Amino acid sequence: MPTHEAVHPRSHGPMVSVATALQRVLAQVETVEAEFVALPDVLGRIVSRDVVAEAPFPPFRASTKDGYAVVAADGPGVYPVVGHVPAGHPATYVQVQGQASYITTGAPLPEGADAVVMVEDTDPRGNQVHIKRAVSPGTDVRPVGSDLETGTLVLPRGRKLGAVELGMLATAGVSQVPVYRKPQVTVLSTGDELCAPWDTPAYGQIRDANHITLSRMVVTMGADSVGGTRIAPDDTAGLRQELTACLAGRDMLITSGGVSMGEHDLLPELLQDMGAQLHTERVIMKPGKPFTFSTLVQDNSARVSLIFSLPGNPASALVTFLLFVVPALRKMQGSVPFALPRIGVTVMEDLRRDPHRPEFHRVAVAWDASLHGGAGGYRAASTGSQKSSRLMSMLDADALVEIPPGEKPVPKGTVLPAIDLRML
Ligand code: AMP
Ligand code: MG
Repeated sequence: MPTHEAVHPRSHGPMVSVATALQRVLAQVETVEAEFVALPDVLGRIVSRDVVAEAPFPPFRASTKDGYAVVAADGPGVYPVVGHVPAGHPATYVQVQGQASYITTGAPLPEGADAVVMVEDTDPRGNQVHIKRAVSPGTDVRPVGSDLETGTLVLPRGRKLGAVELGMLATAGVSQVPVYRKPQVTVLSTGDELCAPWDTPAYGQIRDANHITLSRMVVTMGADSVGGTRIAPDDTAGLRQELTACLAGRDMLITSGGVSMGEHDLLPELLQDMGAQLHTERVIMKPGKPFTFSTLVQDNSARVSLIFSLPGNPASALVTFLLFVVPALRKMQGSVPFALPRIGVTVMEDLRRDPHRPEFHRVAVAWDASLHGGAGGYRAASTGSQKSSRLMSMLDADALVEIPPGEKPVPKGTVLPAIDLRML
């Protein structure tokens, strides 16, 4: 049980804008080292070097049709079929004028042949074939390197590897892929009121929603969430012990709770006491004002751990995660670009705004062909009450609409920039 202690209102640095806070975060982020990973295991990773084609593709003159390889100059007529060339089984002979070879899509043209007549324009006659149509040299043939020339930049450094990128790496013969290693991240919930999701809360307790959400977000962002499920208490000694354990050897620690102005919100002072440098404390934004960012140089190593202290309310924790932690994780993994994409959305109802702080309003986004005089555009529907305790406001959120501060509501129909979350 916490004993009653005198309230010491804590001092804090000036509140900064979202842009300044993000700048201060990114200034501390360094890209992690690279490693080689086998092709099937690199989905979602970021490639750490330019990948350049070392050979042309296709590597041989390939037929694009099932038909007959011919010498184009021969023209229509009846010719002996001197061989069968299915894909994967190149001819071992040289074809000369006055001959044809049966060939399938993807097979190399026999040496000497220079065009393909598709099967629809031919008539087989025993050992011969009737070529019914004239073709030019190169008809239905993919020249060497026509899809990919030697020296082409296949993937630039910093590219996220999706399924298609893996196909390109396979084509280019890169089976061990240079990628940035996964940042090692620990997520820590703080609060005496929290119990594990699988426990039954006692009166006054609630289940910890942030750990599971934030740690899965970390995994979604391509990092490793290490250290298991952790809940730290609201007392200095217990919290300090947890922080120390969570920071050891980690690239990043993400805490939630304990950063507001309450008597038991101990984190910022404690972090400073542990030798961390506070870069940002409190941001002019809604939700997420108490967001705190600090760094700690680990003993006996040059490693700097980034420490993100998010507010405890689930919607605040998630919004600050998306705005500050996501770009940091992306930059750390060498991702180019590291900022989340923005889109323009049309708000479908009047939106109240905060007089002083920009608000990141959670919206569901849908394409609406009738917007902008029939040109079409994205419509944004609010996810409802934007109370920071209401995780439901994040549930259907496809985007965060940035509503500038002001007195009057933003009228329905206004187009505003929004951070697009749909690809996360
Ligand atoms: P705090 O930032 O610690 O003052 O917490 C603000 C509010 O968020 C309080 O109502 C907490 O109970 C709630 N909260 C803090 N941490 C969590 C969490 N991990 N899961 C769900 N709610 C939380
Ligand atoms: Mg708390």
